[in-house]
Amino acid sequence: MARVDVASLSVLKTASPPWTALHGREVTAAGRFGKYLDLDCAGLHLITHLARAGWLRWADTMSAAPPKPGKGPLAFRVHLGKPGEGPGFDLTEAGTKKGLAVWIVDDPKQVPQIASLGPDALTIGRADFGALLAGRSERLKTALTSQQLLAGVGNAYSDEIMHVARLSPYATAGKLDEGALDRLHEAMISVLTDAVARSVGQDAARLKGEKRSGLRVHARTGMPCPVCGDTVREVSFADKAFQYCATCQTGGKPLADRRMSRLLK
Ligand SMILES: [Zn+2]
Repeated sequence: MARVDVASLSVLKTASPPWTALHGREVTAAGRFGKYLDLDCAGLHLITHLARAGWLRWADTMSAAPPKPGKGPLAFRVHLGKPGEGPGFDLTEAGTKKGLAVWIVDDPKQVPQIASLGPDALTIGRADFGALLAGRSERLKTALTSQQLLAGVGNAYSDEIMHVARLSPYATAGKLDEGALDRLHEAMISVLTDAVARSVGQDAARLKGEKRSGLRVHARTGMPCPVCGDTVREVSFADKAFQYCATCQTGGKPLADRRMSRLLK
């Protein structure tokens, strides 16, 4: 890690160690904690959360000129080699609601959001999964995407998992019977495993397209459900939406959606 350029100070959530402490360090490992990505730079960790509008863009050569702060989506640049000659990546933020975050820490657990993560969705067993949801009074959609409860499932894959498991996003998480929990756990592992398998070997630029191409209901409002052919429906909130199939998931009954009902008035 030859050099780091910070174009947007607001994405950097830690002040000490300074980002210059990364300069000259070897990247010794890469990993993830839930949806947080970790580059281990010989004991100093560069951690990022892309949030909804953040992205990682790889380039075989990076411009040596330091980026101008506050111009365009570039927030954070990492030169993995001599600036101007070596490869590297940019962390960018396209949204107006700034969510992209970067931490530089000696120990990933120093990131509060990582310290509070629940067990990882890809490794939790069926029995622990059942125990985790037992007694939860929130809706299934809320429970699955709560990172403190279960790490790694976001808005898109929770829609996919509930569709495969044929469960309503509004089901009460703690009231699922054993059969529903079996389906939900199996769907979670298969949907996430498939997503990882599709992503392996893809370069960062293609990952978004790859993710989209594998989706069944998420972000497919108005299109046919690939299982039953019913129209994929949406429930929207102020700043986000989720999608589901009424025939597959809610016994054919559309869920209440304030925006939809307003449009139909
Ligand atoms: Zn369907």
